[in-house]
Amino acid sequence: MSIYRQFGVEPIINASGTVTRLGGAPMPSEVLDAFREASEVTVPLEQLQAAASRVIAEATGAEAGLVTSGAAAALTLGAAAIMCGTELAKIAKLPQTDGFANEMLVAREQRSGYDHAVRASGARLVEVGLDESRAQAGGRRAELWEYEAAITENTVGILYVFSSESQPSLQPLIELAHRHNLPVLVDAAAQLPPRENLRLVESSGADLVTYSGGKALRGPQSTGILCGRRDLIASATLQMLDMDEHFELWDPPQELFKRSQLPGLPRNGIGRAMKVSKEEIAALLTALTMFANGEYDALIDGERACLDTIKSVLTAECPDLVRLEEQDHPSPKMLIRLESSCPLSALELCRRLRAGSPPIYLGHGQLDAGILVIDPLCLRPEDAATIARQLCSLLGS
Ligand SMILES: *Cc1c(COP(=O)(O)O)cnc(C)c1O
Repeated sequence: MSIYRQFGVEPIINASGTVTRLGGAPMPSEVLDAFREASEVTVPLEQLQAAASRVIAEATGAEAGLVTSGAAAALTLGAAAIMCGTELAKIAKLPQTDGFANEMLVAREQRSGYDHAVRASGARLVEVGLDESRAQAGGRRAELWEYEAAITENTVGILYVFSSESQPSLQPLIELAHRHNLPVLVDAAAQLPPRENLRLVESSGADLVTYSGGKALRGPQSTGILCGRRDLIASATLQMLDMDEHFELWDPPQELFKRSQLPGLPRNGIGRAMKVSKEEIAALLTALTMFANGEYDALIDGERACLDTIKSVLTAECPDLVRLEEQDHPSPKMLIRLESSCPLSALELCRRLRAGSPPIYLGHGQLDAGILVIDPLCLRPEDAATIARQLCSLLGS
């Protein structure tokens, strides 16, 4: 019996991928083994995070890294590190930022609900640029000069949300920022795969980059990665770890902290509310290493097989109601475009699939265009036939 039924919760079929609302990705057994083994002994967390920093540096090409409680927490800590460095008075004050520079520039078109995590640090977002193409009122989007024109003495850095569609492109923006001595914090939470995006710090020169641990990395959903400049990672680490220690006894990992550079220990910082357990760290590092070594590539054939099963049933049973489009990059997906002859709208079909038994959740990002998306990453092999059968029965064939 499912552990969830034991608690009175009915399991669903998740065909919408590693979305947070549905609990992220399934963890490989190696990752779960790491979690269990890690719980059996004790290690000091700052030594474990220093080891994590080395593993993350190796996998990403960055100088240093930190395991955070999700990419969102990494955004909060990244902004906190950019604002405070190792100034203990500032660290103690967050999210109050009265009296020191706290503004981060962001393209208006890159604002999203996730930037609440940046604002939670106390940083203030200053929007720049217009996306005239979205407005169907021109073709131009946020431009470099608009960032430059917005820089003032209150500017501490730039927030950039990375994707293959982002504009302006990252590298010239970083060059501009560095000419003004401003660090760039990059949200690349869901931009893995492709695997090369893991080395974004190295390829772009970004100061800090965040990734989710619970999406395609297949680590615990409550983990994430912040990687980049060593001094900023040290600040983020200082603001996250528990600080209930005597400065005289504190024996910090040398590669991150030099005691001589600090007047004392800070109190618990803004990131103390975003702690990560030793088990989560061990599990995430195991997942990261597997992803970086290409060990997940073998799973892709199984994902394609799920899509093939659904495709062959739908093309045989209701060829006139749907048009299928397969994508293979950056990961396998199938778009189900509803034809005008289809008896249900995409929204209604989505609703009825969720109300069925077992409940089925499809990707709902393009409902307005009449498209349902199947992302097979979280499917078990037997789920494909169930999805196909339910779709056909709702479509009346
Ligand atoms: C998922 C996501 C986040 C949050 O990541 P968590 O690991 O869930 O905290 C932030 N930004 C973007 C763009 C995301 O897709």
